[in-house]
Amino acid sequence: MTVVARFAPSPTGFLHLGHAHSALAGWRRARGAGGRFLLRIEDIDQTRCRPEFEDAILEDLAWLGLDWDGPVRRQSEHWDDYRAALAVLEGQGLIYPCFCTRREIQAEIAAMQSAPHGPADTPDGSPLYPGTCRRLSPQERADRLAEGRPYALRLDMAEAMRRAGPLSWTDELAGGQAARPERLGDVVLARKETPTSYHLAVTVDDEIQGVTVVTRGLDLFEATHVHRLLQALLGYRVPVWRHHALLTDAAGRRLAKRSDAAAIRAFRAEGRSAAEVRALAGFAD
Ligand code: GLU
Repeated sequence: MTVVARFAPSPTGFLHLGHAHSALAGWRRARGAGGRFLLRIEDIDQTRCRPEFEDAILEDLAWLGLDWDGPVRRQSEHWDDYRAALAVLEGQGLIYPCFCTRREIQAEIAAMQSAPHGPADTPDGSPLYPGTCRRLSPQERADRLAEGRPYALRLDMAEAMRRAGPLSWTDELAGGQAARPERLGDVVLARKETPTSYHLAVTVDDEIQGVTVVTRGLDLFEATHVHRLLQALLGYRVPVWRHHALLTDAAGRRLAKRSDAAAIRAFRAEGRSAAEVRALAGFAD
């Protein structure tokens, strides 16, 4: 089977060393196996993404010596693909509209803090959605919809897991994993202002693009549990994953995503060679 890997940056800033590390990890994994390497622009957050950053990312990648196969897939050109996947999940009765504002969620969590068990946290420390809108009666839900209140769509995690049954997935570096998507709770699958979310768009795109090895940073390890569940619900093929360690500075601190000092542009302006920057990104020739 041909190996297909990808790099999927969001054009919210310039490419920095951490991105270069991730891109090179995917490119080497694909090319080392004689496979295909794809590029995808994850621009669903139209308030933060900028075309000029996208141009700069492509240019920096080419300067680094990376090439990719076929056209670049831009998520903002594929809303219908995400809507179709949502319709499948909706048909299974696994998603519900959530009208909560961020403030309402915080207030609910604060109220739970005084309760005996307190609220649970997701692995990244952010609080789990308390399930407020999952418990609305059909009438309450219909009323809110009739009022035209904006809503996100959330996955009913407990029901989705029950439907899918036990799942596992494999990381090429960390080995076999039992899927535990419940740690992220009732994740958002479509935002109030966007007909998709990170979790849904990535899962749909990796299937459509035929990705066989998902290479990305360890910071997204927990998200993979959710993606594995979505694949099962949507009847998708199951790739393997390869979560790489995050690049750190000399003091062992994780490189800030928008640290200008680590921007590939800054190294280029200093006159560094592509080979030097690849080495700084953890991939000496
Ligand atoms: N777009 C994500 C990022 O820039 C990466 C998504 C992925 O590789 O699954 O962090």
